[in-house]
Amino acid sequence: MKAFKAKNRHDASYYIDGILNQDRVKLSQAITITESHLESDKQLASQILQHVLPHTGNSLRIGITGVPGVGKSTFIEAFGMHLISLGFKVAILSIDPSSQRSKGSILGDKTRMEELSHSNHAYIRPSASGDTLGGVANTTAESMLLCEAAGYTIILIETVGVGQSETAVHSMTDFFLLLMLAGAGDELQGIKKGIMEMADLIVIHKADGDNINHSKAAKSKYENALHLFASNESGWSPKVTTASSTQNTGIDTIWEIIQNYQTLTVANGYFQKHRNHQKIDWMYRTIENELKRLFYNNSAIKARLPLLEEQIIASELSPVKAALNIIGEYNKTKKNV
Ligand code: GDP
Repeated sequence: MKAFKAKNRHDASYYIDGILNQDRVKLSQAITITESHLESDKQLASQILQHVLPHTGNSLRIGITGVPGVGKSTFIEAFGMHLISLGFKVAILSIDPSSQRSKGSILGDKTRMEELSHSNHAYIRPSASGDTLGGVANTTAESMLLCEAAGYTIILIETVGVGQSETAVHSMTDFFLLLMLAGAGDELQGIKKGIMEMADLIVIHKADGDNINHSKAAKSKYENALHLFASNESGWSPKVTTASSTQNTGIDTIWEIIQNYQTLTVANGYFQKHRNHQKIDWMYRTIENELKRLFYNNSAIKARLPLLEEQIIASELSPVKAALNIIGEYNKTKKNV
């Protein structure tokens, strides 16, 4: 395959200096390079990341999830502005594995968070598009590091896709916040038990007007539900609170809860241990993805696979033997290089 070189690229130092000088335009350009599928961009992105790496890790990374309509963007707007009022610089990223299908969400992001998008202390980056959730997640994780190097002290990572992207967000954040609604019929609102188990905090959202009492009742219900889950390795017991983003109530309490979590887990060592695990997992995930990519892009393998499929269907070859044979052939092509 021919490696095309992208136009209008500078050398790595241009982006590295820009990021370290907190230049938002250059940060955006570097993220675009990170999201690119071109071979030359991949190398450039890796160079940029490697150089800014010592300047990463200094933020608090918060994952935010909940079904569409629960009020995630409205919450991020209110919460983000609260954090800015406390002196933080906030970057907002999202994982949306469906964004290649609904490009509309990109425009939507700008208007969804009106105040934040006009603040000099906030940086909003719409979700990257990609073929696989793994690919999109890796790009988001890299973008997160670039934002940290550019001086953002709180990173909010929102899930836009429902169902699968929560695990990806959880794999790169320190704290996981789940937004839910009171009295919305189905008790778990399509949120699977596994996602509730990941939550460090459940926020019963839209606790305003007629909904205040329902929200208080929901809070007790979820508190009871959380007691059923096994205790957390972090030493933290998940909390439930109520909030309204439109009325700006309960937002400060959420931040207090998150700070309590940070204080506890930094003191007991879990905070760093968790991040170390995440970094190591990221390496293994990348190895697996890259090996797969190399294997399936190999022309000898591509040519051979349809034949093997036929042999398996004709019961001439067992699936396991076929797999081992072709891996053997792949190894031979590597030795001949
Ligand atoms: P998302 O799809 O999860 O990002 O949800 P949005 O932030 O777009 O909000 C969905 C709808 O809920 C919008 O009409 C918001 O105005 C409304 N909404 C968001 N937060 C609140 C809240 O705290 N209280 C009330 N009453 N409505 C809210």
